[in-house]
Amino acid sequence: MTQLLYQTDSYLKEFEAKVASVLPAERAVILDRTAFYPGGGGQPCDFGILMVEDTTYPVDKVKKQGDDVLHFLAADGPLPSPGSFARGTLDWARRYQLMRTHTALHILCGTVFRDYGALVTGGEMEPGKGRLDFEFETMRGELVREIEASINREAAQGREIRVRILPREEAFQIPDLIRTKINLLPQGITHVRTVEIVGLDLQADGGTHVRDTNEVGTIRIVDYKSKGAINKRIYIAID
Ligand SMILES: [Zn+2]
Repeated sequence: MTQLLYQTDSYLKEFEAKVASVLPAERAVILDRTAFYPGGGGQPCDFGILMVEDTTYPVDKVKKQGDDVLHFLAADGPLPSPGSFARGTLDWARRYQLMRTHTALHILCGTVFRDYGALVTGGEMEPGKGRLDFEFETMRGELVREIEASINREAAQGREIRVRILPREEAFQIPDLIRTKINLLPQGITHVRTVEIVGLDLQADGGTHVRDTNEVGTIRIVDYKSKGAINKRIYIAID
């Protein structure tokens, strides 16, 4: 089982860990703790490097498997041994861009729900850009500039982003979480991690976010597509 350090500190760029096990066929290692985000919830995984003893391994893919996080080592050569001491370093430029992008998408989600009552059905992101799909019957091209102005107002407010890990029963008491389909969470999950943009948005979410909406900077709506009468897709980009 890997302890997920990014869940409580998304600004952790470097960390120390122990190699818990090695999967030679996949050239992957499982660490006892990690700051690498393994991907999920629309946010791609982190990249970076792992130093074990005197060898530096580029990490070019990270994946969750059950309770473990697998770090795939890009270089050839001998793999580290279980029990070794490791030091991980994230590709911080990529990760920070993903944090700003992810928070920008939550600002969009919260603003569109507050102003138009439209719910998100899906999304995707890369560093610096992303999209959300909405059930948003009244959406039309003319609203794009209005929504863009609103989300930038929210970003510039400097709203705090609060992350909490709650017992399942407690999370289920929060009315705001119900709309984000928290009730679809698998039975076995005992705790729910919530990400709140104070005063704007609250979601069950496993991703990494900035701590203040000011860090997002300017958000541009770069495209909008109607995918039918109900389903609308909004594309954003940040600098
Ligand atoms: Zn999210």
